[in-house]
Amino acid sequence: MIIIMKQFKIIVFIILSLFFFNKIIKAEIHFKNTDFELEIIRINGKEKGPTLLVFGGIHGDEEGGYSSAEVLAKTIMYKGNLIIVPRVNYAGIMHYRREIYGDMNRKFTDKEYPNDPDHKVMVMLKELISEADIFINQHDAFGFHRKKYISKSYNPFRYGQSLIVDTGKIFSKKLNKELNIDSIGNRIINNVNAEIKNSKHHFCFWNQNSISTNTKFKDMQKSATYYAVTRYSIPAFGLETSKNLPSSKLKIKYQLLVIKKIMEEFGLEYKLKTDRFDKPSLYWIEFIKNSKDIIRVNSNTNIRLNINDTIKANKIHSNYGMGLSFDILNWKNSNDFNNEYSFTQERTAFIRKNHIFIGKVRFKKFKKDSIRKIFIEVNNKTTSIPNWGVLKIKSNDIFKILNCDNKTKYYFDIRGYNNRKGDSKIAISSKDLLKKYSFKREGNIYFVKIYNKSILIGGFQIEISSK
Ligand SMILES: [Zn+2]
Repeated sequence: MIIIMKQFKIIVFIILSLFFFNKIIKAEIHFKNTDFELEIIRINGKEKGPTLLVFGGIHGDEEGGYSSAEVLAKTIMYKGNLIIVPRVNYAGIMHYRREIYGDMNRKFTDKEYPNDPDHKVMVMLKELISEADIFINQHDAFGFHRKKYISKSYNPFRYGQSLIVDTGKIFSKKLNKELNIDSIGNRIINNVNAEIKNSKHHFCFWNQNSISTNTKFKDMQKSATYYAVTRYSIPAFGLETSKNLPSSKLKIKYQLLVIKKIMEEFGLEYKLKTDRFDKPSLYWIEFIKNSKDIIRVNSNTNIRLNINDTIKANKIHSNYGMGLSFDILNWKNSNDFNNEYSFTQERTAFIRKNHIFIGKVRFKKFKKDSIRKIFIEVNNKTTSIPNWGVLKIKSNDIFKILNCDNKTKYYFDIRGYNNRKGDSKIAISSKDLLKKYSFKREGNIYFVKIYNKSILIGGFQIEISSK
């Protein structure tokens, strides 16, 4: 009986912790599928502690910020909480431009600008600052900040590799004590630099004293950190990595290193993997054509349409789940994901992960010899899918590729089915397909290519569901 009780306790514990872990990471997306998409991720620790708010990408061409914020979003918190906004300036990031509707880091004032396109985002950002105990605004900047002039790139006028504050002392109402930001900042930077071997990449702590009336940095009085310090008296840091670092990976690494040391300084406990940064790539993009047909294509594919056919991007399948956009060039928004396009003229569309181009497709008119339909027999019943469509079958269905609508003799090649003479007119079951050739070797999705005299002219996916 005791043993059973013990097991029961373990099971209850596992269930509770699963429940717990499911609840501790919450992501909300506002203004979805627009140029102002705003994702807010909340990670709550098991133990109570301060809440750190991190803004990534307030300037769209400062990739160290928004790329590292995404890595930070995978943190497990033991004590304290994180609120992360990985892409503050979404349109800026997509275009790799510092700003689109003016500098977002100069809009943290009490003035309301209801006609500013960024207005609704600004309202939410200010609201988030009111929830925080500590705040970091991430940036990249040219050169390397140094207290004394060393060279053109290393001097007091450069912003890169610095941790900037607006004042040296604050009385934190939330923590109910006076905080000596100068000594806190210097301590953080000493801890950071102790872990950077290359002294050329060392950080500098920089108190700009922008809250003083005779500051040289008057403009900073409209910034997010100034807002955080003066309205809520919370420690607020501008974190700048250098644009002159040799790689994006290094910018991400340094951003995360400083954030870790800030978390440690304020007693947050966490587990963060900082070595994960995969190159973004597109697996395929899914469209809905004329509100019914599913089409899935790789990059560099022409999608053939009739005038007035409608098409909309429905799903971007990539190794990243966030920060993906679809932009039909010279049409509507920067992010046209889920916008229905009625085909009138040839257009090109780009698929991006943040600012990084990961693919393109072209909408073009049907040619005389284009494939419009592919005929397939499933369990002796003939069905059809559009070119680049999806054949959805069950694992014990038998299918046979027949031909295409224009009767040309094509060569069909199912990746994962071994037959040199082409794979049409043969009864095949999912068990005949080799799993190792399926998407991610999972055995659910197989790819079929269609050739006309060795030229690739079409294809489709076979999607297999277990029941
Ligand atoms: Zn910036």
